[in-house]
Amino acid sequence: MIDFRAFSQEIKSSDCDVLLDSPMSAQTTFKAGGNAKAIAFPKTRDALIKVLKCAEKLGIPYIAAGNGSNLLVRDTGFDGVFIKMTQFVADIEIDGEYIRCSSGTPLSRLCTAAYENSLTGLEFAYGIPGTVGGAVYMNAGAYGGEMKDVLISAEHISPDLKAETLSADGLSLGYRRSFYSEHSGYIITDAVFKLRKGEKEAIKAMMDDFIARRKDKQPLEYPSAGSTFKRPEGHFAGALIEQCGLKGCRIGGAEVSEKHAGFIINRYGGTADDILALIEYVKKTVKEKTGVTLEPEVKIIP
Ligand SMILES: Cc1cc2nc3c(=O)[nH]c(=O)nc-3n(C[C@H](O)[C@H](O)[C@H](O)COP(=O)(O)OP(=O)(O)OC[C@H]3O[C@@H](n4cnc5c(N)ncnc54)[C@H](O)[C@@H]3O)c2cc1C
Repeated sequence: MIDFRAFSQEIKSSDCDVLLDSPMSAQTTFKAGGNAKAIAFPKTRDALIKVLKCAEKLGIPYIAAGNGSNLLVRDTGFDGVFIKMTQFVADIEIDGEYIRCSSGTPLSRLCTAAYENSLTGLEFAYGIPGTVGGAVYMNAGAYGGEMKDVLISAEHISPDLKAETLSADGLSLGYRRSFYSEHSGYIITDAVFKLRKGEKEAIKAMMDDFIARRKDKQPLEYPSAGSTFKRPEGHFAGALIEQCGLKGCRIGGAEVSEKHAGFIINRYGGTADDILALIEYVKKTVKEKTGVTLEPEVKIIP
């Protein structure tokens, strides 16, 4: 039996807040999900290492989280600690065309900093509601751009507690995947991007255009994790789901968005079970009617 109270007492400090038995619905954009035994919010590298050391000592499983915009925690919860990086040292350093920032930095803040410094290349990421760590892990992308285009390197704490750097070549960045999505236990702490000098007005115009397109096409007024499914080779998940007549299909509080069939929304305060049941129903129906297998993009825990 793991003593989470002892864990909390050991890691809690002015550099690390801790919540015990806390609902993940409050930490994810789906606004659903069971309790985590613990959620730690390290603010510094030392605090992060302390959390990891203590988790190892007490045999506590851990998972990193950013803004929880691609996470769905089952209603049964997680018997471990989420290491939520949103309070981690939020600095952005700009050196010519290079930007270095910590993993907890919201993408919107990174994109704004790039714009303010007339640096182009990150406009596609403006409006993705995640952190830099989550975006590197997922190789997040939109409107023809992806992290892979601009990422130079990522720094992490490895499962054996070493601070290491991986260059983009070593990050195996592919469609919604990276070295980190293939290897568990790594906590991304920082990332370095290389952008290009651009026209400030053109950068702003592109960012505004992407935001307008999101507002127009996506059900941003409801809780979701964005596109629920990955894009199957040769198809678009949303188009297949719509073609199968699933728009508006509902299980409990979860619904296939009427506005964008690629989004499952938690429209009526549903549970993670509702969302998971709808994911399975959509997968089954699309497979039966089109032969295409959909794979969730959202990370389901555990
Ligand atoms: C309305 C909406 C629109 C969206 N639009 C897009 C889009 O256009 N393109 C797109 O790609 N995505 C989109 N998403 C999905 C999501 O925003 C991205 O996947 C984002 O990159 C996730 O970042 P996060 O910080 O929220 O990560 P989380 O959801 O917290 O975590 C995602 C994964 O990354 C891991 N992780 C997070 N931080 C770290 C870290 N520091 N170290 C190690 N692992 C870590 C987690 O363990 C988890 O497996 C959208 C989501 C919403 C709600």
